Amino acid sequence: MNCIFCKIIKGEIPSSKIYEDNNFIAILDLSQATYGHTLIIPKNHYANLLDIDKDVLAESMITVQKVSNILMEKLNCEGFNIINNCNEIAGQTVMHFHIHIIPRYKDDNFKLETPNNQGKYNFEEIISKINKK
Ligand code: 5GP
Ligand code: ZN
Repeated sequence: MNCIFCKIIKGEIPSSKIYEDNNFIAILDLSQATYGHTLIIPKNHYANLLDIDKDVLAESMITVQKVSNILMEKLNCEGFNIINNCNEIAGQTVMHFHIHIIPRYKDDNFKLETPNNQGKYNFEEIISKINKK
């Protein structure tokens, strides 16, 4: 399998690792959306959030918390965003499950744009689709 994160985990491609345990690594994302932008990556290959083993998924969030604490303390960020892109439509480019931690600083120029579509969609229609047997 030609997976860049599996290659990083095996040490075949260099990375800047800031944390490692038996099941996870945390590395600096090459793109650095903000200072210290980090990826939490399970050592086993899962394509995405729907594919991942439940226990590993739960442990992923615990690892996010551990590494976020490190970033808060050592880089003095004032908060962070966590992002998971699931599938290409959502911007997933590496098909090995990972969670982004994006540390936030005053004037960091990072924008998460969420449009306000209040009133645009029919809630009853959505609920009826979800409840349809
Ligand atoms: P996605 O778009 O799949 O959620 O995120 C993939 C991320 O992996 C991107 O932000 C990209 O910058 C990062 N990335 C891609 N290739 C490499 C690499 O070889 N090393 C590191 N450290 N990050 C990478
Ligand atoms: Zn992989």
